[in-house]
Amino acid sequence: MKYLSIIGSTGSIGTQTLDVVSQHPDQFKVVALVAHHNIDLLEKQIKEYQPLIAGLVDESAFKELQGRYTGPTKLVGGKEALIAAATIQEATMVVTAIVGAAGIEPTVEAIKKRKTIGLANKETLVAGGPLITSLAKEYGVQILPIDSEHSAIFQCLEGQNRENVDSLIVTASGGPLRTWDSDKIQTATAADCLRHPTWNMGNKITIDSASLFNKGLEVIEAHWLFGFDFDHIDVVVHPQSIVHSMIRMKDGAILAQMGNPDMREPIQYALTYPKRETLHMNHLDFSKVLQLEFLPPRYDDFPALRLAYEVGRSSGFKPAVFNAANETAVYAFLDDKIAFGDIYKVVTSVLESMGHEDDFTLDNLLAIDRWAREKATSLMV
Ligand code: NDP
Repeated sequence: MKYLSIIGSTGSIGTQTLDVVSQHPDQFKVVALVAHHNIDLLEKQIKEYQPLIAGLVDESAFKELQGRYTGPTKLVGGKEALIAAATIQEATMVVTAIVGAAGIEPTVEAIKKRKTIGLANKETLVAGGPLITSLAKEYGVQILPIDSEHSAIFQCLEGQNRENVDSLIVTASGGPLRTWDSDKIQTATAADCLRHPTWNMGNKITIDSASLFNKGLEVIEAHWLFGFDFDHIDVVVHPQSIVHSMIRMKDGAILAQMGNPDMREPIQYALTYPKRETLHMNHLDFSKVLQLEFLPPRYDDFPALRLAYEVGRSSGFKPAVFNAANETAVYAFLDDKIAFGDIYKVVTSVLESMGHEDDFTLDNLLAIDRWAREKATSLMV
């Protein structure tokens, strides 16, 4: 039996994680569930999965939940809920299905309690790569990727002698604006960007997919997860999202991991690792015609990807600033405060105004994350 704590249980990854749990009730027990403010869904999840603790970070939503719920699950509220779920003694694995750098502190605390991490929350690894990976090493904690591309690479690398691997090839659907003219991309609306052709995900990651910021975050995530340098991580656009990612061997052979685009597959692999279990979903059907395309990315029209390589190579706090400024700009775009093309401009302006960098500690990371958000906000008024 694996004991799971799910941080961000009401989101796209969180609900699909619970679906996997429901398919294997004999293998998983949910011990903690935390969300931000979605009371109705969290209450429903508490009743169904009966965790030991559950919480909402939003204080007023938490108070409302306290007024409504009377069962045996202990309720926790505010930021404390994140830490309580990350550190609860009974959990063997913490699934980080929260969105954004808000995942940094709970992930750090979970690692310090030696919980296996099922990592969906890429922003934490992008922003805090040096800290998270060194802590995981120090505490002997395994970080299992949930992002489909990284799960695919993880699966391709299994059993391979690292010496024989040349590079990682991260696939990208190209997002909803893949075929748009460069001028039109600048003025895409939120509705245009939220119409993802192959994946059904939360709003923030869907906007990131349209701008290719998401692919940039994933390149940096791959660097920290697998230890390949940026010259050995490539991106290829693959609109069908069937090949989830690949590795190139030194002799030129390419190993790929494939399947229909359904996040329950990589989620389940992280949860059952190193075993494989039956998963009820719509599996790839080779009795039907299947055409796969691969194209180079349009770096000039989607400049966030090139920028991600630059900040990733420079390391230090630049990836954290890149991430925080992007998060802030994405929410401003979703609130109709800036145009789609402004997201990249805000991120570059914030990066350009960075000053001296301090040591890579948690406090300094959180401070620079806050600074980048404030700076980005000041540029958008
Ligand atoms: P969603 O927006 O669908 O869900 C986010 C979840 O986190 C919700 O449960 C939300 O609660 C909760 N949450 C948000 N902010 C906070 C906070 N400050 N404190 C506590 N809980 C919070 O996001 P996704 O599921 O799409 O994405 C989650 C992570 O997984 C992201 O890092 C994303 O990049 C990554 N990922 C997602 C994929 C996908 O297919 N969706 C694929 C690969 C990676 P509430 O509902 O109450 O607001």
